[in-house]
Amino acid sequence: MENKPAVSNFIRNILVEDLEQGKVDKIVTRFPPEPNGYLHIGHAKSICLNFELADEFKGRTHLRFDDTNPLKEDTEFVEAIKEDVKWLGYEWEQLFFASDFFEEMYNRAVLLIKKGKAYVDDLSVDEIREYRGTLTEPGKESPYRNRSVEENLDLFARMRNGEFKDGEKVLRAKIDMASPNINLRDPVIYRIAHAHHHRTGDAWCIYPMYAFAHPLEDAIEGITHSICTLEFEDQRPFYDWVVRECEMEHVPHQYEFARLNVTNTVTSKRKLKLLVDEKVVDGWDDPRMPTISGLRRRGYTAESIRTFMRETGVSRSYSVVDEKMLEHFIREDLKLKAPRTMGVLRPLKVVITNYPEGQVEMLDAEINPENPEMGTRQIPFSREIYIEQDDFMETPPPKYFRLFPGNEVRLKNAYFIKCEDVVKDADGNVIELHCTYDPETKSGSGFTGRKVKGTIHWVDAKHAVPAEFRLYEPLILDDAEEDENSSFLDHINQNSLEVVHGFVEDNMKDAQAHDKFQFFRHGYFNVDPKHSTKDKLVFNRIVSLKSSFELPKA
Ligand code: ATP
Ligand code: MG
Repeated sequence: MENKPAVSNFIRNILVEDLEQGKVDKIVTRFPPEPNGYLHIGHAKSICLNFELADEFKGRTHLRFDDTNPLKEDTEFVEAIKEDVKWLGYEWEQLFFASDFFEEMYNRAVLLIKKGKAYVDDLSVDEIREYRGTLTEPGKESPYRNRSVEENLDLFARMRNGEFKDGEKVLRAKIDMASPNINLRDPVIYRIAHAHHHRTGDAWCIYPMYAFAHPLEDAIEGITHSICTLEFEDQRPFYDWVVRECEMEHVPHQYEFARLNVTNTVTSKRKLKLLVDEKVVDGWDDPRMPTISGLRRRGYTAESIRTFMRETGVSRSYSVVDEKMLEHFIREDLKLKAPRTMGVLRPLKVVITNYPEGQVEMLDAEINPENPEMGTRQIPFSREIYIEQDDFMETPPPKYFRLFPGNEVRLKNAYFIKCEDVVKDADGNVIELHCTYDPETKSGSGFTGRKVKGTIHWVDAKHAVPAEFRLYEPLILDDAEEDENSSFLDHINQNSLEVVHGFVEDNMKDAQAHDKFQFFRHGYFNVDPKHSTKDKLVFNRIVSLKSSFELPKA
């Protein structure tokens, strides 16, 4: 991986201090996804942060699946998550599953019961919520709170043995029903779920709650810095309580940072799942999805995502990052790497009437003018070409410098052509242009006779390779996902995908999945890895060329 200077942030400062003061001798972080969906750009923030912090200080990072909720989890998600983390460029030192530790967690819960710090409760989920109180009122103790240790041990063992139905009983930590922190009002730590688990099968019918399992996992794995998002700040006292009362040998610490939010971008697995289930999109890796697999399929590079994460920093205050910033970094990344080429998205046939029939000439063009080392390519040119429909107007507005009757423009890398005649169908639609070219004006010939104001792109008709272009806009507009009063599905942008059919240069006919190009005037495109074939190339537009976005000054 490239060695970029580390960007300072408050978590990094904590690591530096802990190392200096000898509180830890090796940094151990983890990325702990729940395998209940595909990873999205918000997760990438956490991945980059955890892996890069550990890398910088020669520590290690674990990938850990927090698979404590069998109802929503699946091995499909486990595999997709692994692939995404690897693709982003990171290698975990060790792979863990919370379910690896179910026995140990059970034993720790038994320890709590023995210490009088946990009890089996018969209240229903609703009753527990009622009894919990509010921010201004203390909670009420459950009538089952003072069961004897023996009775609790017996009931908990029977919960494990499958003697009770889902929801009939839970195990709760016995802390303080009047605590100002609601998370400490006897939180549930085990629940009954007669459900098949994707790894442990039917071995268990009780499962630890996330808030109980997470600190135990961190402690078991020897995590030093357990980094999570701010919503978990109020959970920290319980996190510390679990580690302490369960008498864990290793003591991990939790640190919180503000989650990444991006304008017009859904960063909630639940909502993304809804888009998939409701078939608003074509799966988790639809190029419009802000999932890592969607971004990859769209054509974003791992490097551009890592740079974006580094540059957006880490803080404890809420903020929303402009989506244009991510677009900025993919343009930056591809600027020198992506070959330039021409693609006509909405073709209009042009016949060059004074060009000899049957003649084909090969024109030289640079592969990337910004990176001359990439060399040159040859483009065929002959009597019939395609240009873009909107590069012609029969009655142009002022300042329209492209083709219109009587006007002359430059064909990129080729000649000046002048529009002489317009051919229309019975309905009056323009279906073909007749133009003349001036052989003196060949690109690179040093011609200085006269100037034209417009340069347009084109593809030679005889050699044109048909291609499908998929053009994207945000799936959700106006950050509708933040609006709690309406379903975010009501705010779907109906025009998020436009499919057009046109042509590309023939030197692209062997383009492979994930090849990336800059189409002159149209932006950066990626060969779709799922639908593109030798017979039908499919290009996903990653971003257009222009952006008014400027990086905020540091
Ligand atoms: P979601 O809210 O989308 O369901 P989650 O937090 O429930 O996400 P997990 O699988 O539990 O999903 O997340 C794994 C890790 O990724 C957690 O440590 C979580 O804090 C982090 N994470 C998730 N979303 C973001 C985000 N937007 N910004 C930063 N970190 C995030
Ligand atoms: Mg979660």
